[in-house]
This record gives sequence, structure tokens and C-alpha cells, in this order.
Amino acid sequence: MATRGAIAAKPKEDEPPPPLDGEFKTDRAARDAAAEDFGHIVHNRPEGVLIPGSDNDIAAIINWAKDRGRKFAPQGQSHSVFGRSEVENGVVADISALNTIGAIDGDRVVVDAGAKWSDVLRATLAQGKTPPVLTDYIELSVGGTIVAGGVGSTTSTHGVVADTVISMDVVTGTGEKLTCSSSSNADLFNAMRAGLGQVGVITRATIKLIDAPESARRFQLTYPDLATMLKDQRLLSGDNRFDVVQGAIVAPPSGGFAFRIDAVKYFTGSPPDDAALVAGLSDIPDARRVSTLAYFDYLNRLAALEALLRGNGQWFFPHPWLTSFVGDSQVESVVNTELDNLNPPEDLGQFGQVILSPIKKSAIKSPLMRLPSDGLCYAFNFVRVPTTDDIANANRLVDANKAAYGRIKGAGGTLYPVHAFPLSGAEWRSHFGSAFGQLDAAKRKFDPNKILTPGYEIF
Ligand SMILES: Cc1cc2nc3c(=O)[nH]c(=O)nc-3n(C[C@H](O)[C@H](O)[C@H](O)COP(=O)(O)OP(=O)(O)OC[C@H]3O[C@@H](n4cnc5c(N)ncnc54)[C@H](O)[C@@H]3O)c2cc1C
Repeated sequence: MATRGAIAAKPKEDEPPPPLDGEFKTDRAARDAAAEDFGHIVHNRPEGVLIPGSDNDIAAIINWAKDRGRKFAPQGQSHSVFGRSEVENGVVADISALNTIGAIDGDRVVVDAGAKWSDVLRATLAQGKTPPVLTDYIELSVGGTIVAGGVGSTTSTHGVVADTVISMDVVTGTGEKLTCSSSSNADLFNAMRAGLGQVGVITRATIKLIDAPESARRFQLTYPDLATMLKDQRLLSGDNRFDVVQGAIVAPPSGGFAFRIDAVKYFTGSPPDDAALVAGLSDIPDARRVSTLAYFDYLNRLAALEALLRGNGQWFFPHPWLTSFVGDSQVESVVNTELDNLNPPEDLGQFGQVILSPIKKSAIKSPLMRLPSDGLCYAFNFVRVPTTDDIANANRLVDANKAAYGRIKGAGGTLYPVHAFPLSGAEWRSHFGSAFGQLDAAKRKFDPNKILTPGYEIF
């Protein structure tokens, strides 16, 4: 705020965009497209869309936006669900234009932040390598995933995607280009990983790689109830016999809920011993389904559902998702309460599900990931796939998400901030808890004018 008598700097409102390697679009179609995301609930139309040709373009446009008092947000694949990459009357950058995947160099690869994980995976598999952790859906951008954290099927072993980043090139909110890692600009590195894009824009990341297996032996297990499913999740999390243990609760049209574990053992060469893998499990034997898939096909397992939902139109309907973590000590009562509150046909949809996947917390290192105090916790997500594009129904579920989050938090749970409901500044502080000071200090240092990524409403 200007003080009395001071001459306030006049915003350079009419200043044209600087010369660019890429282009700056102001046509209505480009601006409308940038006001959409996978949530289809929040719509903020920017004044223009940068299609960057280089990281210099991002720095130049951040400075241009700042000089004109405008905000800026990068967009990866726009798969957030509550307008987090949108900016009303500000500037967005379509980072998917920066998508070069570098040569595989032993245990690492350098990729542009706009590359999709599916393309990164194809490139690394050609050299027998794989990122250690991938999200369940691999059409997300590298940058958009790192700033969320990136929970995947091997998180119990390798942490979140953000934990597999060796270094990053970042353009800060002051338009400065910096490289950061755990040993260089570590405050920036730690604020970028799971930091919701509050202090910088990732342009490039060096990702750790491990040897890729050829195949996945997959066991789809069904349980009569939640308690029996949890019993096996605890058993399997404890003995590491599988590489992947994920859970889901689905609502069959016949009514009630079905409880499922998806357990996978990776292998190259001889298949694993099935009998040893299922020894002592309490699933319903007749319902057990066992298959072998190529490693890529397993990781790409959501492609068929995406095609189906694109085909029936539901991909383009609102998606009021709730994503959280619940500690093992509270999980059974929390899940039972939330299932009691759920009316599956309207609240989940035929193709929706409640994810309940065990995660060993010790593997997660990114400081801004907020997790319950228990060593074993669960990703507890309402993946709602409504059968209607009625925005009133979506807003009802946004309110339901907020109420559920209150109950989950009250039971020691935490948010995975891919959620569809608003949080106030005070609620964000409470979410980050003891880590907020670290993010706040990085904000003041790297984005003091609060230009970047306003969609979360943290600062
Ligand atoms: C179908 C589906 C499946 C999903 N599965 C998983 C899953 O298995 N595990 C999981 O963890 N998450 C999952 N998610 C959530 C997803 O990881 C996040 O929504 C992620 O942020 C989306 O990446 P995106 O490229 O679409 O980013 P966008 O939606 O484009 O952006 C998300 C946020 O990141 C910021 N951002 C984007 N690029 C950059 C960058 N280069 N630098 C800095 N900030 C940036 C944006 O400004 C915005 O705030 C899923 C989402 C969907 C829709």
C-alpha cells in the first residue's frame, strides 16, 4: 500500500509483452481453455497464455506480469481439480510446450517440466530403466506432479515422485533462473518439492532412475469387509512380499461396498512363486484374479478407464475429489464414518472409487508432504466420477469434501492438496503446521511480490 505523500509506481498497464522465443496468445479460445481443469468446477480466465519457447520466456513473462501488477501460474496437464493453475485476468504459461526428454545417463535423466510421465517412461524403458515412482495415472506433467508431491504405487519403498528428483531448474517469482538440489539452493529445492508451485516454476528436472522389470504379476484380491482388507494390508505392508499394495472400495450396482487389494510383484525372467505370494491371505479365494502384464501396461492401467470416460462424456464432467492421508490407528473408524456418509450413486458414480492404499511413511522425505503421525498411513481418496455435469451437484460434493476433511483432520489425518474445496490462509497454515515457516520464508525470498500460482490461496 502506498503511504501518504509517496509516489506510487504506476503499473505499466499498456506495456506489450516482451520479445519471446515462443508466443503469447490473447485470443478467446486460448484464454477459455486456460480457464478449465480436470475438476471443471472453478473457472478463472487469464488475460493471456504464454506458449514458452524457452525458460527465458518464462522469466520475461513473470517480470512483465509483475510490472503490471498481474499474477502468473504455470499449467502442466491441467489435471488439478479446483482451479489451482488458473489466474483470473493474470497470465498463465502452458508448460507442456517444454517437453524435451534428454538422453538417459546411467541412473538419471534430465526432462523438461512439461513432459508427461508416459513419455518419460517410454524413453527410459528403451534403455531398460524406469523412474522409481510413478503416479497411478501417467498422463500428468513432470512439473505439476513434483509440486503436488506425486503419490504412486511404489511410494512405500521409494517415497513420492518429488523424492526422486535429484535437481531442478527453476524460474522464481523474481524472474531469476536458479538450479537447486539438496546441496545447492536447498531452501528452494525443499520449497519446490510438494510446495504447490508457490515460489517458482520448474522448467527442467533431473530424475533418478532404477533398473526396470519386464513384467508385473498382478493379484486382484476381494474382501468381505473393511476389517479383513485392513488386516491383509497391514500384513503385506509389513513383510514386503509384493512391490505394490494398493486398495480400493467400490460400490457395485447391486448395493453395498466391495473391498479390494491390488498387489503386484515385478519380475524379469522366471515368474514369482504364486503360492508364496498369497500364503496366509484372507481374501475370498473364488474372487481372486491373477494375471501377468508387461511392466508398461501395468503402469498404464488407467488408460482404458480414461478412454471409456472420454467416450461416455464423464471425463469432461466436474470431478470434486477429496484426497487425504489417514493414520493406521484411526483408519477403520474414519473409513467407516465416511462410508456411512456416502451415497454411492450420486456421490461416487459407477466408475468412481474410494482409494485406501497403505503407505509406509518412512520412505517419504519431501518436507512439505504432510502426513499423519503413524508410521503406517493410508492414502484415502474420494475419486468421484459423477454421472452428471450439474454444477449444483458438484458444489454439494465440494461442501461434503470440506466436512469430511474436518472429520479426517480431527482424527489426525492430513490433506493431500489435490482436493476440491477451498481453504483459508489460516487453514493452509494449519495444514502445513511446523513446515509452514519454511514455505513462508521461501515465499518471501523467492516470490516476495506474491506473483506465483494464486489458485491455492495460501498467501
Ligand atoms: C485422472 C487423475 C489421476 C491422478 N492420479 C494421481 C496419482 O496417482 N497420484 C498423485 O499424486 N496425484 C494424482 N493426480 C493428481 C495430480 O498429481 C495433480 O493434480 C497434479 O498437480 C496434476 O499435474 P498436472 O500436470 O496436470 O498439473 P496442473 O493441473 O497443470 O497444475 C497443478 C499445479 O501445479 C502447478 N504447476 C504445473 N506445472 C508446474 C511447474 N512446471 N512448476 C511449478 N508449478 C507447476 C500449477 O500451477 C498448479 O498449481 C491425478 C489427477 C488426475 C486428474
